[in-house]
Amino acid sequence: MTVMIDIRISNCNKNYGSLRVLKDINLEIERGEFIVLLGPSGCGKSTLLHIVAGLDRLTSGAIEIGGRDVTDVEPKDRDIAMVFQSYALYPTMSVRSNMEFGLRMRGKPMAEIRPLVEEKARMLHIDHLLDRRPSQLSGGQRQRVAIGRALVRDPRVFLFDEPLSNLDAKLRASMRTEIKKLHQSLGTTAIYVTHDQLEAMTLASRMVVMKAGEIQQVGKPEEVYHRPVNLFVADFLGNPG
Ligand code: ADP
Ligand code: MG
Repeated sequence: MTVMIDIRISNCNKNYGSLRVLKDINLEIERGEFIVLLGPSGCGKSTLLHIVAGLDRLTSGAIEIGGRDVTDVEPKDRDIAMVFQSYALYPTMSVRSNMEFGLRMRGKPMAEIRPLVEEKARMLHIDHLLDRRPSQLSGGQRQRVAIGRALVRDPRVFLFDEPLSNLDAKLRASMRTEIKKLHQSLGTTAIYVTHDQLEAMTLASRMVVMKAGEIQQVGKPEEVYHRPVNLFVADFLGNPG
């Protein structure tokens, strides 16, 4: 059986002046995997995600998506969709327009956009909110809209940067379950950044534990939890041993 590699990160380095934010990162992500980047604040998770998205440039190294070298390719041409912690919705547009916007910009006909947006809105249980503005929604509902906007684009890869960290604990738990279900039904490759161990353990098909710009361990959640490679990983995952 041949394994399809959807994302290949090769010898990736990122410096800000003399600060080495990413140090020779290498990672291969198979099609359909849900990869969680886990580590303390400031360890370089967002930077790595931004580099995959094309929002930040590498100092050295290469990124491939779907077998194509995209190191110098614009974000809009990378076949990715990103969901941020801040919802980044257009405040003056309805939920429907927010979800339609990206597809309209690409010139997709309205006759195709409409049913697509409605289908994804139903999936996310926001179909009754399509005519509201973002300001008329709760935090959890806004985050669903942000996810819906990514879903309608049907990208090859989803990138999430701490999408739940603005939500309260109860809502976080239910959204966690829902993102997991979505991934199980769609099977789209995803990279998901969080500093929350429970989120990582729940969602990841494999997790990547980072510290100060370096990968410490890559593995299935139970592997990493039960067989941490060093004290840092053990401590960070809170396994008393
Ligand atoms: P994380 O997402 O894991 O919290 P980041 O990737 O945001 O970490 O940041 C990693 C490091 O890079 C931090 O030390 C941060 O201060 C630094 N950093 C991030 N962006 C910039 C920038 N534009 N200029 C300078 N330093 C930056
Ligand atoms: Mg971050």
